[in-house]
Amino acid sequence: MEANRLEHFRKLLLEQLGQHNENVRDDQAAALDSVDDSVKDSVDMSLQDVNQELTLRHGERESQAVAEIDEALRRIDEGTYGQCERCGKPIDERRLEAMPTARYDAQCQAEIEASQGTGNAPTL
Ligand SMILES: [Zn+2]
Repeated sequence: MEANRLEHFRKLLLEQLGQHNENVRDDQAAALDSVDDSVKDSVDMSLQDVNQELTLRHGERESQAVAEIDEALRRIDEGTYGQCERCGKPIDERRLEAMPTARYDAQCQAEIEASQGTGNAPTL
């Protein structure tokens, strides 16, 4: 991929990284708020526990997304960004525009999803 295209995708990824970091900060602020409330009224403790559990799970999803962005940025540095990790073919740039963290081209992604599938796929 050309250097100016790589820079374009690096910017996209850094923007997404900044957005996710903001989400994580918001989650942490919300979690701290709910802790303060639970001290005031212990009857609400179970509800607070549920809220904190949901907040933690959301945080895990955010961490996963951040990890995928970090991986994509590493591939840009290594010069492998935009190549399918499965077959090595270039990933369509329109696909990368829509999903800058894509690791596979559309065909491999479809085959991977089909093989993971719902269990209904024929086992040859
Ligand atoms: Zn592929």
